[in-house]
Amino acid sequence: MARKDSLLNLRSILVKRRDALRSALAGDLSLLKELRSESPGDVVDAAYDSTQDEISSQLAEVESRELASIENALERMKAGKYGQCEVCGGRIPMARLHALPYATMCIDCKRMLERSGSGGSGDQGFSEEEAGEETVSRELEL
Ligand SMILES: [Zn+2]
Repeated sequence: MARKDSLLNLRSILVKRRDALRSALAGDLSLLKELRSESPGDVVDAAYDSTQDEISSQLAEVESRELASIENALERMKAGKYGQCEVCGGRIPMARLHALPYATMCIDCKRMLERSGSGGSGDQGFSEEEAGEETVSRELEL
């Protein structure tokens, strides 16, 4: 598949995932359940499995953090910067983007950052806070 087609494909995955997360945060888990079969083994699934009955605040936190990452990725697509490493400016390999569609760093830079101890636990390197919980809660009120 051409890189451009792959990007379009990833974009639709991200949009679907974003919508599912938005619904889940609004209390509707049906979309997220649907997606589980398509993308097994991510952190949301793990959290979901462990707290089937009780949708914990921890899960909500993971979801809103992932949602922010996805929105950031979609913004980057719009700006034509998607798939470009934020640190070195190099191309993030397609395989990595498929594994982690909202990756903002190539694996080398990610590792380097982790080794230097300033990378935190997430993969997102964005600085704009506005894409985070604030946006989500505002939308939930609608
Ligand atoms: Zn890099």
